[in-house]
Amino acid sequence: MPELPEVETIVTGLKANLLGRRVKELVFISPHLKKKQLPGAFRPEAYRRRKILDIWRRGKMIVFRFDGQLGLLVHLKMTGQLFLADPARKIDKHTHARLTFYGLKKELLFRDIRKFGFLNCLALSQIEEKIKTDLGPEPFEISLNDFRYLLKRHGQKRLKNWLLDQKIIAGIGNIYSDEILFRARLSPFRLAGSLTEEQAVRFYRAARRVLEEAIALKGSSISDYVDAMGEKGGYQRRHRVYARDGQLCPRCHREKIVRQKINGRSTFYCPACQL
Ligand SMILES: [Zn+2]
Repeated sequence: MPELPEVETIVTGLKANLLGRRVKELVFISPHLKKKQLPGAFRPEAYRRRKILDIWRRGKMIVFRFDGQLGLLVHLKMTGQLFLADPARKIDKHTHARLTFYGLKKELLFRDIRKFGFLNCLALSQIEEKIKTDLGPEPFEISLNDFRYLLKRHGQKRLKNWLLDQKIIAGIGNIYSDEILFRARLSPFRLAGSLTEEQAVRFYRAARRVLEEAIALKGSSISDYVDAMGEKGGYQRRHRVYARDGQLCPRCHREKIVRQKINGRSTFYCPACQL
């Protein structure tokens, strides 16, 4: 699933190409997107001639702001892709929406093999309301003090689950939670409330560092991820624990990386140097 660094990379590409563009047409190609619209949703026709004023990431979601207070909320979930393509490209059965623009040769496609993603046509105020109830703060915006407070407040959660809970902190999924905990030398099983002062600081810094490095390399291409230009990321080559079970720990060289499920999610860690 695309996480914060991948979605951030997609947004950078979309902004470079789409800011200030006027929509020619938004088309839902397959009916499941229509079924996923929330109450009060706009019809795709409402986007005709609307201008894109801004695009940003919040958690793992992408928000578009159009003139007239119209918005578009996109979540790629497991296998979603949002990218600019040549109109000559053949539309396959996994492509569910198409957005065309005046003065732009390329069109924006929403493709999603497993169909867990959504593209919701909402007023900007509805999107803001939804974000407020669904998402905690951003890892790059939260202060160290607030981070510490959230560790205590959700102190009974294991660190792996604490990181994955979008209502506590937004944007982190299975890959980066493992990489962050490895960097911080903390066990995914540790309870959030049990960290010492020094460990909490290390954890906070590790989260930012890992996410920054992943953004710099345009994210990790595991399974289907591509950026707004259809290009793969490079951070998968830097993964130190994720999907490396059975390999010797790259830091302590004492134990092999272990794969274990926590709340049904595969977790990779070193049992020797993550305490
Ligand atoms: Zn180790």
